Amino acid sequence: MEIKTVKGFKDILGLDALLFNEIQRVGYDIANSFGYKLIVLPTVEYAELFDRSVGNTTDIVEKEMFTFEDKGGRTLSLRPEMTASVARSFIEHHMETNPLPLKFFYFGQCFRYENPQKGRYREFYQLGVEVLGDISPLLDIEVIQIALKIIEQFNIKNLKVKINSIGCRVCRPKYKEALTEALKPHYDELCPDCKRRLYTNPLRVLDCKKEEDSLKEILPRITNYLCDECRKHFEEVQRLLTELKIPFEVDNTLVRGLDYYTKTVFEVISEDLGAQNALLGGGRYDYLVEDLGGRKTPGVGFAMGVERFIEILKGNKFKTPEKKKLYITYDKKFGSNAFEIRNSLIPDFVVEIDPKGDSLKKQIERASKRGSDFILIMGENEVLENSISIKDLKSGNQIKIKIDELKESLKELLKDA
Ligand code: AMP
Repeated sequence: MEIKTVKGFKDILGLDALLFNEIQRVGYDIANSFGYKLIVLPTVEYAELFDRSVGNTTDIVEKEMFTFEDKGGRTLSLRPEMTASVARSFIEHHMETNPLPLKFFYFGQCFRYENPQKGRYREFYQLGVEVLGDISPLLDIEVIQIALKIIEQFNIKNLKVKINSIGCRVCRPKYKEALTEALKPHYDELCPDCKRRLYTNPLRVLDCKKEEDSLKEILPRITNYLCDECRKHFEEVQRLLTELKIPFEVDNTLVRGLDYYTKTVFEVISEDLGAQNALLGGGRYDYLVEDLGGRKTPGVGFAMGVERFIEILKGNKFKTPEKKKLYITYDKKFGSNAFEIRNSLIPDFVVEIDPKGDSLKKQIERASKRGSDFILIMGENEVLENSISIKDLKSGNQIKIKIDELKESLKELLKDA
């Protein structure tokens, strides 16, 4: 029987794979330019890490974790997200002894046992940044700027930041209480999930898509309940966004599906993208490290869903920058010369060598089937004259040049091709 991919898992092929690579490359390049260092983390962690960080009443932990017991009886999970792992690593390696804040960039797969549909998989990739060790609102702005800069590199315009503050352990309990009280008379209008959330995680009712907007409008607003510290922080974030002319909108229904968030939460949307317009989400998590047993260390970051971004880029017909493709054809006697020529042209060009070295006609046919731009011909005459012919497959034009001029001539020739 044919073996296929597992439900919710996928191969990333063709254009998707090219875009995947480009997103990773650009993401790292931009984050690194802001002073962020790459961190590579394991896909498997103790299940407890996510219970104690993402939260055991969240959908992610309650319903969507791939949790299993290994042969040594340990209860392990495939990571559903990466912020908790960054915090775990920070504590485990005593990174608090470094000059803070520490700034990280990551790219890797996450796993959630969700019902697969377009843009929703059981294995998916996230790209993100995290800053640990400083409470300043300037860092909230910095991570937002990185997010915008990455997206802008892909020609996506009309970006806007949706932002909210969800308070801290001082002010959020009072808001939760007020929210629960306000929701109780509307219990019958709530969806089955929200009926449960009312007592476990009432903030999630605010971003449940099943609830009517008219109900959300009459609910108390978190910004009226913020303590002095959270209010000042939120005001400062908004002041900086305004001064930097970053378009933003305060959305009091914006809460995120992970318990560790405090103060600022945000999403970046593009108004050009219609309903599924959220490109990424993030926020501040000032208790995460201490909740996991570390020293009090505030943090802020964002995560972008790579598959969703790939879909958006395909919709926008984004083209990845590609090198020109060359194909070396040769007389069988000169196979090793072909390898030498290729070595001299890599990595400026993509260079393939014909696998057979049979008749020139057959080699050219194979070259054009593989979408090559130019063919390099090493026939008997060329080799004797220490030269090589270059054939433009589109125009059919052919020129012969000296081998030591090959690289420069190709660059010149391909400048406007
Ligand atoms: P979250 O960690 O829930 O804040 O999600 C961050 C981003 O990851 C989202 O904006 C999505 O683009 C992406 N994401 C979350 N879950 C999935 C999934 N099951 N499949 C694909 N992408 C996902």
